[in-house]
Amino acid sequence: MVVLKTTRELSLMREACRISAGALKVAGEAVEPGVSTEEIDRIAYKYIKSQGAEPNFLNLYGFPATACISINDEVIHGIPSKKRILRQGDIVSIDLGAKLEGYNGDNAATFAVGDISDEAKRLIDTTRESLYKAIEAAVVGNKLGDIAWAVQGYCEERGYGVVREFTGHGIGKALHEDPSVPNYGKAGRGIRLLPGMTLAIEPMINQGTAAIKKLPDGWTIKTADGKLSAHFEHTVAITKDGPKILTLCD
Ligand code: MG
Repeated sequence: MVVLKTTRELSLMREACRISAGALKVAGEAVEPGVSTEEIDRIAYKYIKSQGAEPNFLNLYGFPATACISINDEVIHGIPSKKRILRQGDIVSIDLGAKLEGYNGDNAATFAVGDISDEAKRLIDTTRESLYKAIEAAVVGNKLGDIAWAVQGYCEERGYGVVREFTGHGIGKALHEDPSVPNYGKAGRGIRLLPGMTLAIEPMINQGTAAIKKLPDGWTIKTADGKLSAHFEHTVAITKDGPKILTLCD
């Protein structure tokens, strides 16, 4: 069931989302060669707690950390570890969220560790841009498939693989609500977008093929071909005045 949010609920969500965005910002600022993913996770945790919020990934389905931190060919759900040290030339995806007053925010971005290759930059830029294309399509009267196709068309045209097995999602009192928001599909298909819907839109884009595999840790998702992957996400409200990105810093 898709829950439409009231104006009051949207303003509560905006606060949770603002904290989520702030946490992603400080986590991203900590990215540099030599830093462990555990250290980045700790920075995000402290920030969220300092704002009076709770890290909403922590212990969800048993996930052991505040942030999913995924390096290079890791697509999503990387587990922070003191053994995972960022190196010059890596790319790192950080996905995290905060819960405040019963409402959730969720956002993600891929960051460069020092100087990265032109190919890696192009992947990051394309993935980020595909998220904004999807947000532009998140307007009343459009359908869920318009969001999906905005990502798929843009990325496949540029030679990238669009991950199928994981999707964006509705978000509100629960971190994961209906509907699923796939990054592939047909324009004009699927449920109609209505004012008050809040969606976490999150393209996961591979440099090579779309195929993925899960590591034995039960969490980490990698590209099957070992090529790079990038991930961007915003929590977005659909309103009669157009899409509003909720996961923005002040
Ligand atoms: Mg999400």
